[in-house]
Amino acid sequence: MSFIEFSNVVFYYNNDEEAQNNRPAIDGVSFCVEKGEVVAVIGHNGSGKSTLAKLCNGLLEPDEGEILVDGISTKDKKRIFDIRSKVGIVFQNPDNQMVATIIEDDVAFGPENLGLKSEEIRQRVDWALKSVGMSEHAKGTPFKLSGGQKQRIAIAGVLALKPQVMILDESTAMLDPLSRKEIMDVAMKLVREENMTLINITHFVDEAMEADKIIVLNDGKIFMQGGKEVLTKYAELASIGLEAPLAVRVKNKLNEQGYDLPTVLTDEELVDCLCR
Ligand code: ADP
Ligand code: MG
Repeated sequence: MSFIEFSNVVFYYNNDEEAQNNRPAIDGVSFCVEKGEVVAVIGHNGSGKSTLAKLCNGLLEPDEGEILVDGISTKDKKRIFDIRSKVGIVFQNPDNQMVATIIEDDVAFGPENLGLKSEEIRQRVDWALKSVGMSEHAKGTPFKLSGGQKQRIAIAGVLALKPQVMILDESTAMLDPLSRKEIMDVAMKLVREENMTLINITHFVDEAMEADKIIVLNDGKIFMQGGKEVLTKYAELASIGLEAPLAVRVKNKLNEQGYDLPTVLTDEELVDCLCR
């Protein structure tokens, strides 16, 4: 059994059948996420990405179909606490996720709510801050930090819950390229060292390139899903307003000019094949 299983999930924000234009935000979605897997979810604004994230940890409940997390249905009200502690979400704006005026208190907030012993909380907070490279800021205030540093604290807050799955919901969207890369490096390190599962919701195709599986959402439906080859489908991506990686686009233009290049995905692969 997969760690997360969506079967024919339908979700409406407004379940009033009389309402005009009442379209589901998630419309018949099925997919699986395995333990330790890195999954990228891409799609334009309003395609249903954040709704999908909130369905994964029971913040929202499906109207049709079923979602299992580690075998537990997200509709099972008695187990909702279990599900929330298995799947943590980091949202886009770190300012909305800060609750305390001292960084370590902020990170401790989640584990305190789990009712853990103070010793265990201490260990988790120290570990989480270390994992995101923010140990030296433990006693400081979050308000003076840069956007990238605040997002690291938000990630530490989720990590302190020791989730098995971390969902980054466009968590790097507001950051500069360097901070973006640093956050992704932290997340990938946790995948490798802690066997964490990562669901990265992103509109940066270069981040999606690091994923084992790519899910493309459009109008609440899965438009494509598969391995990295999904990102080479230039015309299909363009048809729903998404841009393929630079190397894929350049290769395509060259093919149009009559050059016969093999399929490439990364800049390195393109350069390598051009040199040859
Ligand atoms: P994305 O994260 O891909 O931008 P969302 O999941 O936020 O997409 O939104 C999917 C659809 O659901 C959009 O049409 C959006 O307008 C609608 N929607 C999102 N949140 C709400 C809400 N709280 N109430 C009503 N409609 C919503
Ligand atoms: Mg969103």
